[in-house]
Amino acid sequence: GRVLLTGGNGFIGAHILDQLLANDFHVRSVVRSEAKADQVRASHPNAGEKLDFSIVPDITSAGAFNEAVISTPPFDIVIHTASPFLYKAANDNLDFLKPAVHGTTEILKATKSFAPEVKRVIVTSSFAAVLDPNLSEDAGVTYTSDDWNPLSWEEALVGDKPTGYLASKKFAEKAVTYLVWDFLKDEKPRFDVVTFNPPMVYGPLRHPVSKNADLNESNARIWDLFVNSSKDADLPPNGFHLYTDVRDLAYGHVQAALLPEASNRRFIFSRGQISSQEISDILRKNIPELAERTPIGKPGTSSLHERAYDADSTPARDVLGVEFRSAESTFVELAKQLLEIEKRE
Ligand code: NDP
Repeated sequence: GRVLLTGGNGFIGAHILDQLLANDFHVRSVVRSEAKADQVRASHPNAGEKLDFSIVPDITSAGAFNEAVISTPPFDIVIHTASPFLYKAANDNLDFLKPAVHGTTEILKATKSFAPEVKRVIVTSSFAAVLDPNLSEDAGVTYTSDDWNPLSWEEALVGDKPTGYLASKKFAEKAVTYLVWDFLKDEKPRFDVVTFNPPMVYGPLRHPVSKNADLNESNARIWDLFVNSSKDADLPPNGFHLYTDVRDLAYGHVQAALLPEASNRRFIFSRGQISSQEISDILRKNIPELAERTPIGKPGTSSLHERAYDADSTPARDVLGVEFRSAESTFVELAKQLLEIEKRE
């Protein structure tokens, strides 16, 4: 099969690309520049003719993907991961909202108009589109795929950066459901959709990162709070207290490309809860080199409230067959890799 993949140079996209190639898919990776295409090519040296590229400098422009979606033989699947999450790269909340919403609508429109053979569009949304940021952390909620973040566009524009990011994912995903519903109403849809709603995504890097200052948002926080810190530092909460491993998430995307029964589903994709204390305990236990650098806190305790919110990933397990790996695997492998990068800097 043939897959069009946006964001293949990013943290999550690189793992999806890797697993697609391993499953013998042909992949066209959409990136913003030739230089980025060269980097992706260099980090998948064995891909050969199974990998090609389309350069789309601005995913928000009208018709952005009109050429990228055309291929001979045609694409079967589109996977859209490209969307901004890096806080330091955003000047205001429109820097999150515009590429998230327009990038998503543009790829759906181009697929509809110019790639009639595509059977499925898979979108990497986020738990950000699910959770209600107005509820207290300890409201005892278990979120399911029926839940939607209630933030309004107006709140998104005036809110802080986290609000802008959360809302960007909510409105991008709303655009998917709206457009698909619209297609259903007006004409027979030629593709179905699958969305993924992962909370914090962590784990080893498959894309090239030459210095830790260039890390993606979620792993940058692991570096700052847990690896490049000090044993006496505080242990504040790190984003959502729910998380998943990037390799498991990539596996989910590939399964969604393969399994008809994933059709039109929204998959909450959380391995479970983890507190900052638990992350520190794992790192201190497994990496002696971090004795002076990872905050000690109060070992063996969890800083999470017993009614801290959770999320139901049963459909991801049952429909996609995902088996979430251990927290040790995620955090220890990531931290070791970050220490290696530091040594090479
Ligand atoms: P990265 O920052 O590593 O990758 C983001 C990707 O999106 C890159 O390919 C990047 O391209 C592209 N991108 C970002 N901004 C723009 C823009 N304005 N125009 C065009 N392309 C853009 O982050 P992740 O891999 O973590 O994120 C991938 C997806 O996963 C996003 O949709 C994100 O919202 C979602 N997600 C991530 C979570 C996490 O914890 N990491 C949690 C939940 C969802 P370029 O290199 O050119 O900037």
